[in-house]
Amino acid sequence: MTAFAAGAATDKGRVRNDNQDGALVAPGLAAVADGMGGHQGGGFASSLALETLQRNAGSGDVTSLVAAVESANRDIHQVSLERDDLRGMGTTLCAVGMIDSAGVGRARVAVLNVGDSRVYLYRGERLHQLTEDHNLVQTLVREGRITQAEAATHPQRNIITRALGIEPSVEVDHAELDAAVGDVFLLCSDGLFNEVDEDRIASVLRRLSDPSEAAAELVSLANAHGGRDNITVVVVEVVESGGVASFELLTSEREATSPTRPAPGGGPVAPNDPTGAMPVAFGEPDGVEVLAGRPRRFSVRVLAFVVALVGLGYVGYWSIDWFANNSYFVGTDGAEVVIYRGRPDGVLWFDPSVEERTDLAVSDLTPDDLERVEANPTASSLEDAQRIVENIELAIAERDAASDDAAGGPGSDDDDPGADDAELGDPEGDDGSTTTDAGVGTTEG
Ligand code: MG
Repeated sequence: MTAFAAGAATDKGRVRNDNQDGALVAPGLAAVADGMGGHQGGGFASSLALETLQRNAGSGDVTSLVAAVESANRDIHQVSLERDDLRGMGTTLCAVGMIDSAGVGRARVAVLNVGDSRVYLYRGERLHQLTEDHNLVQTLVREGRITQAEAATHPQRNIITRALGIEPSVEVDHAELDAAVGDVFLLCSDGLFNEVDEDRIASVLRRLSDPSEAAAELVSLANAHGGRDNITVVVVEVVESGGVASFELLTSEREATSPTRPAPGGGPVAPNDPTGAMPVAFGEPDGVEVLAGRPRRFSVRVLAFVVALVGLGYVGYWSIDWFANNSYFVGTDGAEVVIYRGRPDGVLWFDPSVEERTDLAVSDLTPDDLERVEANPTASSLEDAQRIVENIELAIAERDAASDDAAGGPGSDDDDPGADDAELGDPEGDDGSTTTDAGVGTTEG
């Protein structure tokens, strides 16, 4: 009997305040969901999707898996109609399920997808994308209006054209393929592949054979490249034997947002904990068949769906685009202070992006400065945002000058313009006597 060994990791990333992604690892089943729709809705939708999938996956034939996803769609849609605070929520969902484990060294595996999370197959040291993204940019690529390379950096790449919970019914892409021992399936939210290119992902899978270690490493890598979105990774390897006895769900929002629906089975593991990676396995049986979503034109229906997603019609979409992108804020990106374009928590599916890098390093900041930066002060123009950064730089320079004055001896109680100018020109106080930046560089895990 072949089986699946799996490891999963999720993290809110370095920009978002919460994690609306979730992951499921169960015997014969693994899935990733990326929720959307406001503070509460996204996390609620992703975890409800994973729970419903797990509960209804049945014996693991494709039909029951698709039915389970459709059922998740109905559940999320129904709750969004009933609760004002969750109206308009939705989620992506991608999954792999073992549907026949009876072959020696082989397995039959189903792949399912709705939205823009992805399933890859790592085989022969190469990464093959099995799912097709249901988003606006892929529609534009299919229509020949932009190239695949342009799609990867397109500002509207976060606009998805299909998701669970938005409409009463949903079309679920699904396919089956033969897998062999040693094949690895990688399931991930866009927080991974928007930050880390596929060659880097493949090299991690080449280097780390343990699924949990690989999942945790990929999440770390996405954070190291900016972590501008929630990141969730599940690595599933087809192995000769072994198995998972129970399932685990990685979510962060479920408890807080769904008091009426108990978490099934073992319950959620700690949120936002990449080390919450868990080893698992599920059950078994050539050729890579890409999960070919039917070629889809940019039909009226798809357009209507996009319009429904943004809620305000086509004009509303551009208004929201304008609203989302016509603002700037100051924040951190790894060790740097940067200026983002967008809104700190994003607006619907518009994520903030780094507009300008500054000369200011996180390690230059005092705890107070850092607190100020992490409050993400916003500005209506890039110039205003630059001014915020300049003010922080000025405060640092003045502090350095004052501490140097103090170190230089009492009595120099007021500004000597000449001396200040000299200090302002010195990017780092060389004695560091009152610099309180010890430990400031490590602000987030
Ligand atoms: Mg995402």
